[in-house]
Amino acid sequence: MTRTVYVNGDYLPEDAASVSVFDRGFLFADGVYEVTSVLDGKLVDFDGHAARLDRSLSELSMHAPVTRDELLEIHRELVRRNGLTDGLIYLQITRGAPADRDFAFPDPDEVAPTVVLFTQSKPGLAEAPQAKTGIRVISIDDLRWGRRDIKTVQLLYPSMGKMMAKAEGCDDAWMVEDGTVTEGTSNNAYIVSGGRIVTRPRSVDILHGITRAAVLRYAEEAQMEVEERPFTIAEAQAADEAFVTSASTFVMPVVEIDGTPVGTGAPGPVAARLREIYLEESRKAAI
Ligand code: PMP
Repeated sequence: MTRTVYVNGDYLPEDAASVSVFDRGFLFADGVYEVTSVLDGKLVDFDGHAARLDRSLSELSMHAPVTRDELLEIHRELVRRNGLTDGLIYLQITRGAPADRDFAFPDPDEVAPTVVLFTQSKPGLAEAPQAKTGIRVISIDDLRWGRRDIKTVQLLYPSMGKMMAKAEGCDDAWMVEDGTVTEGTSNNAYIVSGGRIVTRPRSVDILHGITRAAVLRYAEEAQMEVEERPFTIAEAQAADEAFVTSASTFVMPVVEIDGTPVGTGAPGPVAARLREIYLEESRKAAI
């Protein structure tokens, strides 16, 4: 089946969809994105993603080209048209395509944003085998720009980080700045130490994960102790457990950091429990 994608108001076969070579997303990475999971044909935490999208747009002085309700309808229509059961919906909004390449932003009244959405089918998304084995990470310097709280499409350094991990036979990289872990290349990072879940507080240093917000809420509801503070790689290596969260991997245990096993070297009970609660609650609340 040919995938149907959404481009600026139209639902098109993927082969017939295109954007301009002058698009600022292409020329300047001048755009933002969201990834929303689909479980059993329903959207997980749609409102969280829609709210963060609004914030990313406003931080970049871009006008929202669609309302929350229109966005929900586009997501649902793509799920319907593509017969999606489990997978992801990728959304990207750029500052559009002015007539020429120019560093200055175009007048938003003259140049409309580009809106693109597409689906990625991932059968059995919630039963990823890695959740049972855990992932192995390396640490790398965090060389990204200073506004990581805005979900921009500037993903070259995170891509390089994944390649550095791959070159060492690992799954992902944790980025380190001024001696402490900021986050994973595409996820938020946590350790479990002294019975507490420790994760970096929200700031411009990290993306404010939608999964992070939900997991911390569920952890507190389950009477688990949460401490929001930065931690080092050495502390993580000595911790009882480590894990990451993201919309597409949910809660994923980390079992090795820079070659050192974390805890027993196998996924721990806190990460497993949080994953279970997160999936259960997300399925219940999905729309
Ligand atoms: N940090 C970074 C750098 C990310 O790219 C992502 C996922 N896009 C996350 C954290 C996790 O955010 P979310 O839970 O909203 O997917």
